[in-house]
Amino acid sequence: MQAKIHPKYESAKITCACGNVIETRSTSKDIKVEICSACHPFFTGKQKLVDTAGRIERFRRKYNIPVIGDGETS
Ligand SMILES: [Zn+2]
Repeated sequence: MQAKIHPKYESAKITCACGNVIETRSTSKDIKVEICSACHPFFTGKQKLVDTAGRIERFRRKYNIPVIGDGETS
């Protein structure tokens, strides 16, 4: 008989560096992480990509760099 083969699972809190707290079940009570679903690049990546595109657009206009294949002759 192996009745006590499983460790005792208790409710645990995962605290992220961004301040997000996730309640879960784990063998350890408190877990601290530096990244979670709320601040993971996978979820915030789209917004960052949009910002980067905007910066490139502003840079391009500032230095009057034409878009390649635009057909504009100024
Ligand atoms: Zn987080």
